[in-house]
Amino acid sequence: MKMNSILVVEDEDKIARLLELELEYEGYKVTKVMDGFEAFEAYKKGNWDLILLDVMLPGISGIELLRRIRLNDKHTPVLLLTAKSSVEDKVSGLDYGANDYITKPFQIEEVLARVRAALRMKTVEQANQNQSPEEDLIKFADLKVNPKTREVFRDEEAIDLTPREFDLLVYLITNKRQVLNRDQILEAVWGYDFFGDTNVVDVYIRYVRKKMELPNKPPLIHTVRGVGYVLKEAK
Ligand code: CA
Repeated sequence: MKMNSILVVEDEDKIARLLELELEYEGYKVTKVMDGFEAFEAYKKGNWDLILLDVMLPGISGIELLRRIRLNDKHTPVLLLTAKSSVEDKVSGLDYGANDYITKPFQIEEVLARVRAALRMKTVEQANQNQSPEEDLIKFADLKVNPKTREVFRDEEAIDLTPREFDLLVYLITNKRQVLNRDQILEAVWGYDFFGDTNVVDVYIRYVRKKMELPNKPPLIHTVRGVGYVLKEAK
């Protein structure tokens, strides 16, 4: 089996070495860089299965680096490392296209679990890419979703979603007309327990709704009070 290559971008030597040691022990091939510019060079030269990216870096910040990466590359999973811990901070980082967010100080087991989850998602995505274009399209009401290109259209109108928003929408469509509670959504879309923080589900539903609910279109995501959410045609 091919070893997954991970780019670790972290300027704190102690943390960088811990990550390198533990990830290598788990069987990953690790390259570590300690500054933003160097990281962008390493990113362009390498072929990475995953990037662990500290937000506070010398040179260019982790968020700016992420923005540059996402201009041309929507697929390489990026997990952000940061000292900030509020839900809003998590969401702002995720909004730039990070796949996940890890707050420092972290438990190494937590990092390893999230790395595994992100790589698992990537494998599912690659499996979907091997299907023909017609099989690829997921349709619901006037929504069309292409998992291969990660494009979403409502009628002919393109909807630009971040990776996590996209995963959330795909999960809702796959389980259309079923009422889903927040824990179910959290587990399916985030791939692990986000520390019981189901707020993040509400925040993301709000984001996806805002992008999807066009003024002349009926709503598709409905709140079921006291339970969760359901994707269904408006009545
Ligand atoms: Ca740092």
